[in-house]
Amino acid sequence: MPQSIFKPEHELFRKTVRSFIDREIAPHYETWEKEGQVSRDVWRKAGEQGLLLTDIPENYGGGGADFLASVVMIEEMAKRVFTAPGFRLHSDIVAPYIYNYGSEEQKRAWLPKMAKGEVITAIAMTEPGTGSDLKGIRTSAVRRGNELVLNGQKTFITNGGLADLVVVAAKTDAAAGAKGISLVLVETDRAGFRRGRNLKKIGQNAQDTAELFFEDVRVPPSNILGEEGRGFAYLMNQLPRERLLVAIGAVAIMEAALGWTIAYTRERKAFGKPLAEFQNTRFKLAEVKTEVTVARVFLDHCLRLFLDGELDATTAAMSKWWLSELDNRVLDTCLQLFGGYGYMLEYPIARAYADARVHRIYAGTTEIMKELVARSL
Ligand SMILES: Cc1cc2nc3c(=O)[nH]c(=O)nc-3n(C[C@H](O)[C@H](O)[C@H](O)COP(=O)(O)OP(=O)(O)OC[C@H]3O[C@@H](n4cnc5c(N)ncnc54)[C@H](O)[C@@H]3O)c2cc1C
Repeated sequence: MPQSIFKPEHELFRKTVRSFIDREIAPHYETWEKEGQVSRDVWRKAGEQGLLLTDIPENYGGGGADFLASVVMIEEMAKRVFTAPGFRLHSDIVAPYIYNYGSEEQKRAWLPKMAKGEVITAIAMTEPGTGSDLKGIRTSAVRRGNELVLNGQKTFITNGGLADLVVVAAKTDAAAGAKGISLVLVETDRAGFRRGRNLKKIGQNAQDTAELFFEDVRVPPSNILGEEGRGFAYLMNQLPRERLLVAIGAVAIMEAALGWTIAYTRERKAFGKPLAEFQNTRFKLAEVKTEVTVARVFLDHCLRLFLDGELDATTAAMSKWWLSELDNRVLDTCLQLFGGYGYMLEYPIARAYADARVHRIYAGTTEIMKELVARSL
């Protein structure tokens, strides 16, 4: 499909991203997978190349580009099946929170360092006891004198192993329900902060996903992001963007998988002819090609809405659940056509299959997305 929404400057940026991936990510990826996390060095190099915070204005150290530069980054990483480093979470989820809701002081303190890759960030909403039901979080941030004291535990936190700064969703008023939730900036060198295990996952193995513990962690009240008690509202405002990011990755990986599968089935022979000549293979590939085409058209529609500031929560939810369910199905179909090789991690289809499973879970599960869509009917 021609990617008509991109302009020549985006395609130029795509070339920079591709060469960075070839040089700085591909050669190290296997080691990072074994170690369960990437190097700090790659973050700094990405910062030097202007690959972080691309759509944050230049006066805060960002790239000053539009959202399509983020899309290019996400697509190129997805196509190579590199789910780490967690640039997407840092640049496209955490940075917008700080940029949109932070005080001038917070923006000046953090965004330039984040853009340089000197500070790595995470966002911590999920807890062992609650994920989908965000209102049920128990981590507290209580005022004591002129300090805010945090206590609680978070889990499944992307970039949690390396993060220098964590945006923590915490209850500043336990009795006020959703209105008692605030977002608090917590520097990870504060006393009482502790990282737990780097969690072992079925995919995305170079990405650090960690437990975080807060035991009487003291921060100044000026670490509250935006207004106290508005955390839930901020999360609801930003979640459509987060969901769209998953949808973008889903379409990119499906397009890549289709390409690999066409190439493989033309080359591999069984019963004296290429797999691509069996009617089943042809029909499966025809189905995938059709589904991927429909997916791309819908995603481009969502991207245009987002660029015009008109992507509503319902449409974002539709894109997230439908495209992530579809990518799981498409990757399964493609993997099958690789036979046993599809199960071997040296083939990108295997890693893509394992990495993509979580698309249906994080950033809001398929079931929660359907709830959101149903509520709008
Ligand atoms: C690799 C990875 C990275 C992650 N990164 C982060 C991160 O950086 N920061 C962060 O805060 N979180 C992160 N998460 C957490 C993720 O967002 C949650 O796992 C997700 O929101 C689901 O929450 P849960 O795991 O508690 O499942 P639960 O909420 O317990 O849900 C379990 C099942 O019940 C279903 N369910 C729940 N409620 C309903 C309902 N009302 N109707 C129907 N079905 C329902 C769910 O859909 C799901 O199938 C990450 C998770 C993973 C696996």
